[in-house]
Amino acid sequence: MHFDTRAIHAGYDPFDHFGAVNPPVFLSSTFAQASPGKHQGFEYARSGNPTRAALEGVLASLEEGEFACAFSSGLGATDSIIKLLNAGDHVVMADDVYGGTFRIFDKTFKRFGIDFTMVDTTDVRNVEKAITPKTKMLFVETPSNPLLKISDIEALCALARSRKVISVVDNTFATPYLQQPLNLGADIAMHSATKYLGGHSDVIAGACITRDPGLHERIKFNQNASGAVPGFLDCYMVHRGIKTLGIRMERACDNAEQVVSYLLEHKRVTKVHYPALEGHPNQAVAARQMKRYGAMIAFEINGSVADGERVVSGRRVWTLGESLGGVESLLEHPASMTHASIPKELRMKAGLNDGLIRLSCGIEAAEDLIADLEEGLSSY
Ligand SMILES: *Cc1c(COP(=O)(O)O)cnc(C)c1O
Repeated sequence: MHFDTRAIHAGYDPFDHFGAVNPPVFLSSTFAQASPGKHQGFEYARSGNPTRAALEGVLASLEEGEFACAFSSGLGATDSIIKLLNAGDHVVMADDVYGGTFRIFDKTFKRFGIDFTMVDTTDVRNVEKAITPKTKMLFVETPSNPLLKISDIEALCALARSRKVISVVDNTFATPYLQQPLNLGADIAMHSATKYLGGHSDVIAGACITRDPGLHERIKFNQNASGAVPGFLDCYMVHRGIKTLGIRMERACDNAEQVVSYLLEHKRVTKVHYPALEGHPNQAVAARQMKRYGAMIAFEINGSVADGERVVSGRRVWTLGESLGGVESLLEHPASMTHASIPKELRMKAGLNDGLIRLSCGIEAAEDLIADLEEGLSSY
């Protein structure tokens, strides 16, 4: 069946629940047993419950995996993935992974003896050079944040496989609608379901999907052992969001394309970062592995931190805020917000200039989004 059909029907059969068209929210922490160990598939709800099982079913289907685990947050998923490793193991990681991903490796798991090396994964050779006999995991994020760099999932995962390294792709920005890492050879696709999967900026959740029964058993063990499980209602909300994922992504991508065209023509905009553009260093890879180019854009003005702040402040349609992937368009200014804690010199070296602005296109009318940006760009 097609993606949009699976988004609505996979994981749940109404006739399992009195014909209820939507999966019931089971507010039950425990399940009655007829005799010890004799139950209908659920015992204690940290281990699983029917609302979560329905969500996990649709997640597995959309990523074309066999198994999924839902988590209380994207970082909850990452935590259970990293716990596949042992002290002494080494990880190769993209140098521009989500800040929280870097933090959990750097501040938490390093203390437990898991070492890592960060490289620019847009060039496979960098990864090849960084792999040591101790390397057990490759952690990639593409498109990346905030510069929308693209890494070649197929080439990276083939390399990882040949070295017996577990490959993990953070598929939050693309979503399974635009890109399916497992089909490109990844062992694990993970998500912050807080973003596009939930899609309405009203829930924090995460997910991790695989085809490998062994990996799934171990992640599921970690999910239950560490307990970063999503609440019952949160499972329902993410599931409901997923039903419109395809239609939301199409509209958000349409909007992104129009906003990009507008920005390219604007005389105060010095650079636009979007994987569809000919000048993007990995455009060909994006064209190969993505259905469309996504709804995240970054652009630069030749101005100071204060100029950047002026452009993003006081917008009437774009909401100034961190996060992404909701129906509402969000914008943010990395130099004064998400990346403000990075010393200026390092920030500039990473290409995050004072005048860099990141956009998450929602599904409003493109004309209104562009008119509001025009006001912002005239304001400094
Ligand atoms: C937000 C985000 C995360 C973390 O997810 P939470 O749900 O906030 O824990 C991980 N990766 C990416 C790419 C993200 O955008």
